[in-house]
Amino acid sequence: MEKNKQKENIMNRPPVVVIMGHIDHGKSTLLDYIRKTNIVEKETGGITQAISAYEVVHQNKKITFIDTPGHEAFSKMRERGAKIADIAILVISAEDGVKMQTIEAWKTIVESNTPCIVAINKIDKPGANIEKTKQELAEKEIYLENYGGKIPFAEISAKIGTGVDDLLSLILILAEMENLTGDGSLDASGFVIEVNLDSKRGIMATLIIKNGSIKNGMTIVVEDAMCSTRIIENFLGKIINEATFSSPIRIVGFDKMPKVGTQFKTFQKKSDAVKYIENWKEGKNLEKTKNKKEESNKKIIPIILKADVSGSIEAIEKEIAKINDENAEFKIVSKGIGPITESDIKGVSCGADVIVIGFNVKTDKSALEVAEKRGITISFFEIIYKMTEWLETQMEEKRPKIETVEVTGRAKIIRAFSRTKERQIVGGKVTEGQINLNSTIRIMRREFEIGRGKIINLEKNKTKVSVVDEGSEFGMMIESKIEVVAGDILESFSMIQK
Ligand code: GDP
Repeated sequence: MEKNKQKENIMNRPPVVVIMGHIDHGKSTLLDYIRKTNIVEKETGGITQAISAYEVVHQNKKITFIDTPGHEAFSKMRERGAKIADIAILVISAEDGVKMQTIEAWKTIVESNTPCIVAINKIDKPGANIEKTKQELAEKEIYLENYGGKIPFAEISAKIGTGVDDLLSLILILAEMENLTGDGSLDASGFVIEVNLDSKRGIMATLIIKNGSIKNGMTIVVEDAMCSTRIIENFLGKIINEATFSSPIRIVGFDKMPKVGTQFKTFQKKSDAVKYIENWKEGKNLEKTKNKKEESNKKIIPIILKADVSGSIEAIEKEIAKINDENAEFKIVSKGIGPITESDIKGVSCGADVIVIGFNVKTDKSALEVAEKRGITISFFEIIYKMTEWLETQMEEKRPKIETVEVTGRAKIIRAFSRTKERQIVGGKVTEGQINLNSTIRIMRREFEIGRGKIINLEKNKTKVSVVDEGSEFGMMIESKIEVVAGDILESFSMIQK
């Protein structure tokens, strides 16, 4: 009975959409166009959108757009493993084609497993080349529908509106295919997409509800930040008493700044909210001790950074923080504004791995001479993403390599014959992957490795072969100190440097 009741409350939920793509390819223009033409409820004197998300209605169905610089919101979402958007629109200018951030955005979309629609934009421009854009996408393994793949796409002009209706229809179709549902009877949960501090009103957060409903009087918690919902506003800044899934809302009155990209939960009783925060804090403490242990094992690659203005330094620091590896991390040990001087180089005491970067600045002869003597390379950049790309390759080169075992195939031993010296003939079946002649094997018994060996002869249907595939039976001779018996699993593997 209870179950049926629950089922009744589950309804289709409007999709939450994020727009991504390379800078200047038209993300803001598209968001503006959709906002201007599709918001139903208009305030007198035009639309006064108050927060960084909005709802539109297309074919009588709602769609929520996240209206923040897409990339940032999305990368935060990636960092925290959160799933804010249900659908991503990848905007590509048909004039410029696929660019660096197009690829970056695509990677984020794939990694977060978000369904995607490609919007080929600026088709009104004389320089637009739709075919070429599609070709470039295919070269980057972004396969559109009818171009060797399944990704739906629309050809649009965000400026004059061509094709935007089609794009909105595609969003609804994709949303239906994804079967997005929500239960309005639950207490609301979702994500924080923006936080502001208003001198008069205090801390305000924009939230996207992903499930459930929120009403006045409930308590919201974001990690250890709390807020009693006395003021709920919709995306137009209008005070409302309740809201439900997929809607963007603004909540005023948090006791501390919640983090963008993190999850929020709501509670009917304040005491439950307080309990939740206590549990969260406990979990956080455990995590901290664990992280400390892990971090202490990481290799530090020191960076000395000089740049033209403080804004550059801030931007670069952000980019550097994003480059991470399990076993190494960059650390800016010294930073400053102005050219790279001799004393900057003399101050280097961190060994061969140090990286010296000049961003939009020069150096002088004496600094260069000292650097050369000490075997230190100075690298200059003018474009942040070029520097980031270069640093990524440096991380790859300098990080400690770890050898890991990569299993290439598994086989179950069905019969084991007698052994002579350290050789044995066995018969079995490949259960996974492939088994190769001359490969090294691990002998597993009840999931434990009991020894290793090598395949020195391999036969299928009594004929010598070099490889046996999944599903096939084989006979083989192995060389090993361990005697293999029926039921053992052989794993062929290779050592990979990662
Ligand atoms: P964003 O950086 O991706 O948000 O790009 P913007 O939306 O700011 O667009 C960059 C420039 O391209 C602006 O000057 C827009 O007016 C222009 N633009 C965007 N979309 C179109 C379009 O469909 N057609 C034309 N002709 N120009 C466009």
